Amino acid sequence: MSDADAAPRSVGVVVVAAGSGTRLGAAVPKAFVELAGRSLLDHAVCRVLAVPGVVRVVVVVPAAYVERVQHTVLAAPRRGSSASRRSSTGPQVLVVAGGAERTDSVAAGLAALGSDVDLVLVHDAARALAPVALFERVIAALDAGAEAVVPGLPLTDTVKVVDADGYVRDTPDRALLRAIQTPQGFTRAVLTRAHASGLQATDDAALAEACGIPVLVVPGEEDALKITTRDDLARASLRSALLGEV
Ligand code: C5P
Repeated sequence: MSDADAAPRSVGVVVVAAGSGTRLGAAVPKAFVELAGRSLLDHAVCRVLAVPGVVRVVVVVPAAYVERVQHTVLAAPRRGSSASRRSSTGPQVLVVAGGAERTDSVAAGLAALGSDVDLVLVHDAARALAPVALFERVIAALDAGAEAVVPGLPLTDTVKVVDADGYVRDTPDRALLRAIQTPQGFTRAVLTRAHASGLQATDDAALAEACGIPVLVVPGEEDALKITTRDDLARASLRSALLGEV
């Protein structure tokens, strides 16, 4: 029997939202900044809860926000946002405190996820508008046999490698480059091994790559843009309006 014929595997999702978001210049951590009247975290979790096959979601937030998020995201069924998409049989949602670096926050989420999920998706709350279809695409690639999967978009800009003095050292072939997004998906065993390396990286795929694990790139989505600056927030507001969310 091929992997494609196997029974569907259970999916856990770690949503990392413990960054400070200083580049956004807001008074609250980035995941709590509002877009169309709801926090970025709420937008992200809402979509995750609508992904078929997801049995557990771990939301990783700054330690000072754990209790608040337990009362908002988890109480959401009464609010009509994340809420309305959850049923009593929907995914279990846990909230835990993150760490100093993104890798630490993912590790905290992974530790809380439990050993009964087969596949783990790691998602940045900062990619608040990543569509359900993107999660499904990543899961489908894992179901088809990949051990590590990331969404990526071709670049339109030419990219230069520069040295510390600001001089160009190299111009990589743009056709070979991809801007990598989340959700990034892994078998649980692979993600656990990648994090056991003790390395820090700006994404989880880099940890898997360092362990020699092949990472498959599937097509990304413009809507999965990462909201880092005020301009990104403005762009996301426009996209959210286009999606009919305001
Ligand atoms: O700013 P950065 O690219 O590291 O953020 C990507 C995602 O990782 C964001 O959703 C942010 O909230 C999260 N993060 C985290 N813990 C950190 C740093 C970032 O959960 N210590």
